[in-house]
Amino acid sequence: MVCYCDDCQAFAYHLGRADLLNANGGSDIVQVAPSTLTFVQGQNRIVGVRLSPKGLYRWYANCCNTPVGNTLSPSVPFVGILAQAFEGGAPAVDEATGPPIGAILGKYAIGEPPAGSTGLNLSLILRAIGKVLAWKMGGKAWPHPFFKREPREPIYPITVLSREQREALRPLCGPQPNAQATG
Ligand SMILES: [Zn+2]
Repeated sequence: MVCYCDDCQAFAYHLGRADLLNANGGSDIVQVAPSTLTFVQGQNRIVGVRLSPKGLYRWYANCCNTPVGNTLSPSVPFVGILAQAFEGGAPAVDEATGPPIGAILGKYAIGEPPAGSTGLNLSLILRAIGKVLAWKMGGKAWPHPFFKREPREPIYPITVLSREQREALRPLCGPQPNAQATG
């Protein structure tokens, strides 16, 4: 699905990777089960950031600031991968996963919100919940690419943005960005 929320936009700007957003500020997210995602090299480059103390864990490689997965807490087994971060971009990923089946939070989209992105997309939400439950019951929650099972804590270092840092990103995001990206 494509997420237009201002947090996903803020994350991209925080990394200096607004180039990964689509023309309307959207992030093309592929949801996968934790146990199906493994890193085979460069793990020493993985770090996480939270936009607020309770925000998503947003993981990235700190060499090139490439997002490598968004997660909730370890108890909610799903990883959202940003398709645009892959070689070949979203079109290449679409070949494997199929095209996005919907869009959410279009009220934060830059410019005209894409069709169908602003309402409550119940079928998309139910589908996501169904996947998470199936992965939980089906034993696909562990091993997790970003969390230890015992004790349940992040494998990689985390930073949490201060309110000031978060607020500084806000003007770049949302329907009427009033500042230009830097970096
Ligand atoms: Zn989002």
